[in-house]
Amino acid sequence: SFTKSLGQNFLIDENILQKIVDASAIGPGDRVLEVGPGIGVLTQAMAQRGAFVTAVEIDRRLIPILSDTLAGYDHASVVQGDILKVDLPALWQEHLEGQPFSVVANLPYYITSPVIMAILQSGLPLQSMTLMIQKEVADRMSAAPGGNDYGLLSVAVQFYCRAELQFMVPPSAFMPRPKVGSAVITLTKLPECPAGPVDEDAFFHLVRAAFAMRRKTLHNNLAASNFGLSRDQVREKIEACGLSPAVRAEALSLQDFARLTRAFYGAD
Ligand code: SAM
Repeated sequence: SFTKSLGQNFLIDENILQKIVDASAIGPGDRVLEVGPGIGVLTQAMAQRGAFVTAVEIDRRLIPILSDTLAGYDHASVVQGDILKVDLPALWQEHLEGQPFSVVANLPYYITSPVIMAILQSGLPLQSMTLMIQKEVADRMSAAPGGNDYGLLSVAVQFYCRAELQFMVPPSAFMPRPKVGSAVITLTKLPECPAGPVDEDAFFHLVRAAFAMRRKTLHNNLAASNFGLSRDQVREKIEACGLSPAVRAEALSLQDFARLTRAFYGAD
């Protein structure tokens, strides 16, 4: 039986399975963190290619099945737990031997963004993430400024990674079938933030404030948040960044947000 609330849609298409592993480009000895292995089809496919996989699964009923599936592989381990509650640095030390690692997962869709953000913000030496997610979320993560899909999630992901949509996956590839279309996306960790040097906390505070009310101008959104500045002072700072106060956050690049961050929070 499947537990809908845990986002259990198991992949049953062998071809898609191999395409995910191909997209991840993992090979022998690579360390991989998998979120939500289910019955272990993806875990096993990666172990077969010689990767050292640690899989975190919340559903206790699946642990014996997983242990069975992975019994023949020296370097596959299963941890029972909630990925949003595990101590990631401890897991990394213990199971990924404190080495650079990648994430490969057919994610439970109800926690897609929190999982991705927790891993990106952990500060651990992530190399890439290859993820099956909802098509619509993949579009938002890979969106460029100006389009309808561009928002807080695009900026948050692109602050750390290059996001590339790989391929679509139809509902028929899963059991049971999800109601939405899916896509595989790769997020490649960037050596340096594309926004340039900027304080991370300040940047995210500013971006959240800028996107607070979707239809409002940048000026209205920033004036409504707690910078302790008058409306006029907010307008002046926006203009000093070479931007129009009437612009909407949806049109701004990461570099624009970084300039605004420096203007509103002082140099770096
Ligand atoms: N990897 C398998 C596959 O491709 O067939 C299963 C993918 S299924 C979409 C998502 C899996 O994540 C399920 O096995 C579910 O039990 C597990 N899961 C759900 N919430 C979780 C959480 N908070 N922490 C860890 N695993 C979770």
